Amino acid sequence: MKRRVIKKRLFFLLILLILPLFFLLPSKKEEEMKDLSTYTKKEVEAYAKEEELELQIEEEYSESVPKDQMISQSIPKGKRFHHKDHLKVKFSLGKIDKNVYQDSHVDELGFVPIMMYHGIYNKKDSETEYTGGNVDYDGYQRTSESFKRDLETFYQEGYYIIPLKDYIKGEINVPLGKSPMILTFDDGFANNMQVIGKENGEIQIDPNSAVGIMEEFKKKHPDYPVTATFFLNAPLFRQSDYEEEIFDYMIEHGYDIGNHTYSHPDFTELTYEEAVKEVGSMYQILEEKLKDHYVHIIALPYGSPYEKDHETFPAILSGNYNGFEYHTDATLQVGWESNFSPYSKNFDPQFMKRIRAYDNNGEGYDIEMNLERLKNTRFISDGDSNQITIKKEDMEYLKENTSRKIVTY
Ligand SMILES: [Zn+2]
Repeated sequence: MKRRVIKKRLFFLLILLILPLFFLLPSKKEEEMKDLSTYTKKEVEAYAKEEELELQIEEEYSESVPKDQMISQSIPKGKRFHHKDHLKVKFSLGKIDKNVYQDSHVDELGFVPIMMYHGIYNKKDSETEYTGGNVDYDGYQRTSESFKRDLETFYQEGYYIIPLKDYIKGEINVPLGKSPMILTFDDGFANNMQVIGKENGEIQIDPNSAVGIMEEFKKKHPDYPVTATFFLNAPLFRQSDYEEEIFDYMIEHGYDIGNHTYSHPDFTELTYEEAVKEVGSMYQILEEKLKDHYVHIIALPYGSPYEKDHETFPAILSGNYNGFEYHTDATLQVGWESNFSPYSKNFDPQFMKRIRAYDNNGEGYDIEMNLERLKNTRFISDGDSNQITIKKEDMEYLKENTSRKIVTY
């Protein structure tokens, strides 16, 4: 045999030997998750180390799981995982001692701020001639600098931003001792969600637009939720070239879209039929663009009609526009102070108050004044969304029909 042929054969033999190794190696890396329910924290740590898992241990109070026992593991037993995967294991702190509620000033009948924003302008505060971060006299428009500062303030003050749609259902997922807050944007200004172009088929958002700022904030504080509900009129976000991509992005990133009527009328100047058209045609557009991915909530233009007994109000709540049936779960006014707890007797989702997010040196119900007032009156969570914890003396303010467990202290 010629040397060249031998060489060739040796080469193929080598390939045959090496090839299976490539298949073996990755499968060797894959393991089956163990049942960790009887493990102690130390044992979980040792296991995670051995399997090279990125471990995160969390602790929370539990009525049913005794102290130091495992509540849950993020990778279920029997599931295959790879090294470097993230494993979150929750351990119980046992039954909560009611002193903890006392110490954290838990009050789930406290007030909840719903912030009302409009446009966010890519400006510094010093570039406007108005107070603080206001871009116009009334502070309906705000600078990007001040919106960034607002988020930082809310974060520092212990507010957790939750979706408006959760709040109206009483689903308050906020850690123990923290307070819920809601952000809303009206009028669909392009600067709410400004697309500046496309890269590799994905839209790029202006980092100084409202969504851009919120996304940056989320990156900076991965454990902190930031979301908002945007109330649109017929021009939507005024960027028809990117409409579909904008809505896909918003849904994917956990933002909500609601109804601000078709053409932004004052309801007190409309007939019942005109009101049906304004509300129904806007819902129809949302349905067409977003299918089920919009909220049945209306931000009332100018906050009008200012009374629920106005003749147009039934048209705001439900109706039939040219065969298109619609209904509304909640409406928002234009206001100046916080709204009631969803567990309060006074809570009325059909007519909710909002705070104008603006600056006025701590007066005239601006952001600062509202946060100051909330220091003693705000909703403070017990950290359990299935349970309502209130002070004994507040029992009379609690809504009667609730399926959640009630704890008093
Ligand atoms: Zn408006």
